[in-house]
Order: sequence, then structure tokens, then C-alpha cells
Amino acid sequence: MEHKLWIDGKWADTKGGSKMEIINPATGEAFATVIDASKADVDRAVQAAKTAFYDGRWSRLTPAARSLALLKLADILEKNTAELAKVESLNTGKPYEFVSVGADFPFMIDNVRFFAAAARDTHGSHAGEFAAGFTSMFRREPVGVIGQIAPWNYPLMMAIWKLGPALAAGCTVVLKPAPGTPLTSLMLGELLKEAGIPDGVVNIISGGNESGQALVEHPDVRMVSLTGSTGTGKKVMKTAADTLKRVHLELGGKAPILVFEDADIDMVVEKVVLGSTFNTGQDCTAATRVYAQAGQFKKMKEALTEAMRAVKVGDPFESGITVGPMISAAQRDRVQGFVARAKEAGASILTGGGIPSGMDKGFYFEPTVICDVDQKAEIIQSEVFGPVVTVQPFDADDQAVMYGNDVPYGLAASLFTRDIGRAMRVAAQLEFGTVWINDHIPLTSETPHGGFKQSGFGKDLSAEAVGDYQITKHVMISHA
Ligand code: NAD
Repeated sequence: MEHKLWIDGKWADTKGGSKMEIINPATGEAFATVIDASKADVDRAVQAAKTAFYDGRWSRLTPAARSLALLKLADILEKNTAELAKVESLNTGKPYEFVSVGADFPFMIDNVRFFAAAARDTHGSHAGEFAAGFTSMFRREPVGVIGQIAPWNYPLMMAIWKLGPALAAGCTVVLKPAPGTPLTSLMLGELLKEAGIPDGVVNIISGGNESGQALVEHPDVRMVSLTGSTGTGKKVMKTAADTLKRVHLELGGKAPILVFEDADIDMVVEKVVLGSTFNTGQDCTAATRVYAQAGQFKKMKEALTEAMRAVKVGDPFESGITVGPMISAAQRDRVQGFVARAKEAGASILTGGGIPSGMDKGFYFEPTVICDVDQKAEIIQSEVFGPVVTVQPFDADDQAVMYGNDVPYGLAASLFTRDIGRAMRVAAQLEFGTVWINDHIPLTSETPHGGFKQSGFGKDLSAEAVGDYQITKHVMISHA
């Protein structure tokens, strides 16, 4: 199947771009072809978004009308879930029942409904007399044309996290999905049209990193919102500096799980297994570093190893499978490289660490538990982005906080204790955008999601995300 670009409400051929093959990670075989958008394609998409922004076909609609279109979009996504989820699973290897249909789609549909509601309350304007003889108004206005660049791990969901608040705020968008996973985002074009979102408001271009770079460089793009790796975030921020555009960066993570002496280990293990293998560990908030208090360390290590060994890895379309293949051979090899280097440095691989036996077709990797690692080891400090979890001991609470914070990232963390005072003290000291107490991984549409430190800045989800796509204007009225 061959896909085109979605520009100004219709399918468009490339002008000077090339073709890219899309691979099914469960088989390693190509099953679709897309366009690798050229600079000229990016420019056409930006011009369509610019025209749509300045003629007000979306930004000047009433909040009620924008909200209604988003509500319709949510219904359309719900109606088309089976087909979209099938393509998402084919394209990413997500277990169809468990992740695609079970988690990604219900959540993203709820996200759209949340932003439909948020669209009714975007004005935030207030007025007052701050100088004699004058009234001042503070208007919250849409930023303008937004370049949105998405990663491959939750292709359509990340697109929705970006589009929802931008559309609620009245912005127009050029969306560039990740090079290998553009299919469901491209399918979204016709669904947006069916929902009554006017042509040109959302333009969708498949393409590689250079297409993304062209979008960030474009002088008519007022803001770039990226979800991707920390390395890409740094490049995007540097490029954006040339045109001084606003950047919104949702980047990598390396979540710690602090397990205190009074925690219920069976419960922790259940949460860590889910948190570290969900989406085959390719999740920015994945549970990656377990720190267990000395008295709990042995039990934690043994119970987690046993539970990870029992996780079923298999074909994403097989019933009951919770862990599918990794996204690509390159990503699987990258993860394998991290594990091999940890082993060379003296780590013990308690379970996993390789390709499951008999599964050399497709990009499968075993759920893996590692211990005997130093806090400064690469496997602790770097984002692995696979079903790999480390376990280390700690003695005092302060040491757990120090270890938890001691990475460049600050996206999400969790802690397990029944002592509310300790939980609150530790939560306050953790430098992460989300801290879960006695759980790991749940997010809701209402709760802000975003990083501290090198996990980036700006929030996805929540009303705060809408604010990120707005700019404040002061209008001062003389009474004369
Ligand atoms: P990536 O950084 O390789 O690519 C992300 C996107 O950026 C892709 O669309 C890519 O084409 C584009 N890109 C790459 N170089 C660019 C450049 N120079 N200019 C403009 N665009 C460019 O990331 P990935 O491998 O697709 O995704 C995995 C990463 O995303 C992980 O680090 C993960 O933690 C992160 N992530 C973060 C969140 C979050 O909410 N913080 C959510 C999901 C994924």
C-alpha cells in the first residue's frame, strides 16, 4: 500500500521527495510505502497551515464550534478503533488486544474528549483598571502555526497529545510522525475532515529527520512541539534559536522505583513488571531502575526475576500476549548492546538478555533483569528503551532519593511505602515531572505530563498543555 501526504485537506504527491518502506516489526517485512517529504513539501504544508490560521477558519470559530468538532473526532476515532489499532499494531508490534485496543485507543479518545471540553475555556481573559483612566484586558490567543514532531513508540497517541491542546487553543498544525511509524497519523487526515475540522488546519507529512529539521527551520512556524529523544530535543532547540520560536519538548526518561522497607513486594513486583514491559519497555515513563531498601533487596530481586521470566512474549495479534517485538532490528540491537556492555562491566543478568529462543524472525527481546551494577554504570545512566530493569540496594531514605535523582533525566518516578510521612517527604525531593506513590505508569487526561531536567519542558495532557499553545496579549483601552 502506498500513502501520500495530507496537505490542505487532501492527499498530495511529493515535490522532490523520495519513498520510504514501512516495516512490520513482527516479521521484518515491508508492508507499506510512504513519502519522505522534501523541503518543498514541508513548505507547502506550512503555507496551508498559515493560510488556515490567518483567515480564521479555525482560530476564529467559537469555542463551542471547536469543541464540537473535537467531540465528533473522538466519536469517529472510537468508531474506527479496530481498523486504526490493527494498523498501529502492524506498524509498531504493539500487542493488539493489550496495548492498541486495550490501552492506547481508549486513552487517546478520552484525551480528545478532554481537549474538546478544554476548548470551551481557553479565553482565560480578565480585565482591570491598573492605570487611572484605562482598562486593561489580558487576552489568551493561539500561538499560530505549530510544527509537531512525534516519536515511534505511541504513534497516534503522541499525535493526539499534540493535536488536542493545539486545536483547543485555536492553532493550526503541521504534524510530522516518526519516519518508521506514520501510517495511523496519515489515516487521521480523512477522519479530521469527517469531524468537520476545516482543510489546512492539520497537515500531515511523513518524512525522516530532515523533514523534521525543515519544519523547525521554517520561519512561518511559530512553535515546535517535539516528543522524542533528549539528543533530538537539544538539536531542535538549537535550530529553533535561529528563528527564536517557542519549543515544547517531551524527551527521554529513566524512571526510578524506590522500594522502602515497609512496601508490599508482591504489589511492587506486579507494578514493576507492567511498568517495565508495557509497550515492550519502549516508554518514556517505563519502570527502569528499582532501588530496594536493604531488608527487601533479596526478596525484590528474586520475585522480580521470577515474574519477568514468566512474561509471555509473542506475536502481537496472538490473544493473551502482553509483550510484542521491539520496533526495529536497530532498536533491539541497541538494547542488546546495553545489556552486553553491562555484563562486560560485571553486572549479573538474572533473566533475559537476548532474543527469545525460536524467535529470530521479527525483532523480539526477552524481558530482562540486571543487578550488581554501579550507580554510574551506563545501564543506570542512559535510556535503554527496552524491556530491561535493574535492581540495586540502598540503606537510608536519603540514599534512595540521591540514587533516584542521580541521572540526567527527570520525567517520572515512583515510590512504594505505607508510611505517608515518608512518601510525602520523598515525593517532594524527587526531581521528576510525575511521582507515583504505590503505583507506576498510570496517566489521565486531566493530569499534566512532562519532564524536569533533560526530559524537557512544557506539558502534555491537562489544561496546562492548552496554555502552552497560547500567548498572552495585553490590550489597553483609554477611557478618554
Ligand atoms: P527521535 O528523537 O529519534 O525522533 C523523534 C522525532 O524527531 C522523529 O519524528 C524524528 O524524525 C524527529 N527528528 C529527529 N531529528 C530531528 C531534527 N534534527 N530536527 C527535527 N526533527 C527531528 O525519538 P524516537 O526514537 O522516535 O522516540 C523515542 C524517544 O522519545 C525516547 O527517548 C522516548 O523517551 C521519547 N519519548 C518521550 C515521551 C515524553 O512524553 N516525554 C513520550 C514518548 C517518547
